[in-house]
Amino acid sequence: MSLSHTEILSYLHEADPKKLQKLWDLADQTRAQNVGDEVHLRGLIEISNYCCRSCTYCGINATNPNVDRYRMAFEEIMDCVKKAALFKYGTVVMQAGEDYGITTDFISDLVKKIKKETPLAVTLSLGERPISDLAAWKKAGADRYLIRFETSDPKLYDIIHPILPNSDPNRSRITILKELKSLGYEVGSGVMVGIPGQSYETLANDIELFAGLDLDMIGVGPYLPHPETPLCANQLPLEQLGEEQVPNTELMTYKTVALTRIMCPQANIPSTTALATINKFQGRELGLMRGANVVMPNLTPPVYRQKYTIYPDKACLNETADMCHGCMLGRIEKIGRKIGVGKGARTH
Ligand code: SAH
Repeated sequence: MSLSHTEILSYLHEADPKKLQKLWDLADQTRAQNVGDEVHLRGLIEISNYCCRSCTYCGINATNPNVDRYRMAFEEIMDCVKKAALFKYGTVVMQAGEDYGITTDFISDLVKKIKKETPLAVTLSLGERPISDLAAWKKAGADRYLIRFETSDPKLYDIIHPILPNSDPNRSRITILKELKSLGYEVGSGVMVGIPGQSYETLANDIELFAGLDLDMIGVGPYLPHPETPLCANQLPLEQLGEEQVPNTELMTYKTVALTRIMCPQANIPSTTALATINKFQGRELGLMRGANVVMPNLTPPVYRQKYTIYPDKACLNETADMCHGCMLGRIEKIGRKIGVGKGARTH
């Protein structure tokens, strides 16, 4: 089933609990029919918080002097990977700021070792690296790449995501997603819900673009203001949208997850940590009950985890990998769903 632009907009504005229940039911049925009851587990390893970009929403952007920077060593990462294999996760996701201190060969060697020693699929989320890096990592055996396009509105994108000096202004994240697809990666993208300057019209366009790009994975979470960023400090030349501004609420995030499921029935959609952050009690579960079919338990060692503060007060901040694992299994079983087996690739 596909919804028209007007229908998407009308659901985004909906406040009637009965009509919203209809949206949740439709999303949940679409999820059950297309990707089943399995919830796939992707082990997240936040391998570095160095970053050369100055994304105005992100707490670890290069301009924030208060970040205590770290870069995990090869063997430290491998220890987390071994945990993922032990916990029978299908995938490890290695995420970082855009950090050129992480060399092409470092990732290639890591990918090769993981593929040789474990049955895990390897997912990378390392920012806007040159196509030569993306190609080298694919050749080394990487399976998937995540890079959110953050917004489909090019003007808003330029304001919240300043380009690097000397970089190609035409290589937007949407271009990179197409490069990744042609290299043979499974590709994931997404947006933040309620970022300042995001209108209902823009968010509806974002959801339609998910379908247009035929994404394999789509992550959406609420925008959570980080006090040490220009976006939070209102330092940007953003148009005030008034009533047209999308709020960064829990409800709006569920609506976006549900509409994304309906528009992209076969995609893998996580119930994100940002959602679990605004409702620590049952954000994960409600995401899974309103369209999502993936969770990403955090494997990052606690000392580093506390330094990967893309936004404040992140869920699971003081937990170990074992604690996150147990908590996630409990939440999945409690809502009557099954733990995914295998790599959990997108079904076509
Ligand atoms: N350097 C990588 C990984 C970034 S972190 C990259 O840029 O792709 C992954 C995602 O976290 C980002 O794409 C963004 O959508 C989200 N994020 C960053 N800051 C956030 C904030 N303040 N609130 C909510 N989500 C945020």
